[in-house]
Amino acid sequence: MIGGGQLARMAHDAAIPLGVRFRLLADTPQDSASLVVNDVVLGDYRDLETLRRFAAGCDVITFDHEHVPTEHLRTLLAEGVNVRPGPDALVFAQDKGLMRAKLDSIGAPCPRHRLVADPADVTKFAQEGDGYPVVLKTTRGGYDGKGVWVVKDETEAAEPFRAGVAVLAEEKVDFVRELAADVVRSPHGQAVAYPVVESVQKDGICHEVVAPAPDLSPELAAEAQALALRIAGELDITGHLAVELFETRDGRVLVNELAMRPHNSGHWSIDGAVTSQFENHIRAVLDLPLGDPRPRQPWTVMVNVLGGDYPDMYSAYLHCMARDPGLRIHMYGKDVKPGRKVGHVTVFGDDLEDVRERARHAAAYLRGDITE
Ligand code: ADP
Repeated sequence: MIGGGQLARMAHDAAIPLGVRFRLLADTPQDSASLVVNDVVLGDYRDLETLRRFAAGCDVITFDHEHVPTEHLRTLLAEGVNVRPGPDALVFAQDKGLMRAKLDSIGAPCPRHRLVADPADVTKFAQEGDGYPVVLKTTRGGYDGKGVWVVKDETEAAEPFRAGVAVLAEEKVDFVRELAADVVRSPHGQAVAYPVVESVQKDGICHEVVAPAPDLSPELAAEAQALALRIAGELDITGHLAVELFETRDGRVLVNELAMRPHNSGHWSIDGAVTSQFENHIRAVLDLPLGDPRPRQPWTVMVNVLGGDYPDMYSAYLHCMARDPGLRIHMYGKDVKPGRKVGHVTVFGDDLEDVRERARHAAAYLRGDITE
């Protein structure tokens, strides 16, 4: 797996019981996954020679992020490396402009959008619709809300163009909530769909995920799952695909984003589903039959632990574990920095309010926001 973050760390965890040997390409020995994987190649994922050295001897390579240059992946593929998902699919997760064009071509519902040339063009885009505010996104390189701006006039619209990358404008969707439809597809064409989840975002960062999304109509849930499966098929995706969605006030879903790797919206599945997103991603890239994606319990709530002011989260374990023996804690071994995702907690059970309160309490306690 290329990328040493927490996604690789958790994918490695899923590979262990399958007896799948796991090699990592990471930036440093301190990366979240480098701390637990024994076969680590250190180097720059933007360097073709490093990628070649890493891929030699691997049956298949896959990713914990989407930033490996597409042209290098094409070269590796031409040299016989099994790259999954392949560059022709991955490019739609790397470039938001190409993603929107592709989704349009297959008739997937999206917010109104187009590429914009400069701030004056943003104003034109605004006037073609309901005016400002407009959402601007750099087409490449963004994550966790970096590379996304909500601008209210032409002066503010200047900022995204400073990065020197193409800029995509989108209508600001007045959504009821954000959902995610996660599916996994294998090269065989087998696919499984996880229940559609609600994902609560603050400042572009996922804070909480509830599986399944409460009060979602069965029709809309089925529509969202069918949409995600269709995208996975049409784009010929191998592995886990997260389709981030907006639920609109008139009961539709619009596609916000695609992620072709395990995703924060699927972390609940480690404890809450029969087969986790990480295991299914590994099975898919190895073209093995996929595991059951169904939940084990009526409700699962995952809350991210974001770094707070306390550098030592472990001092909170005594309280959290004593208070709630059903709590599942996942820490990523990362240094605590304010706002950084350093772990998550999961609670499951029959009663949504109870499950949610327990998960929120534990995350807030670990973060140091509450002390009792
Ligand atoms: P990233 O690549 O950083 O994940 P996203 O495209 O998912 O960026 O945007 C981050 C967040 O910004 C979304 O989760 C959503 O809350 C908000 N957002 C993005 N696009 C729109 C839009 N068109 N309308 C309203 N809110 C949006």
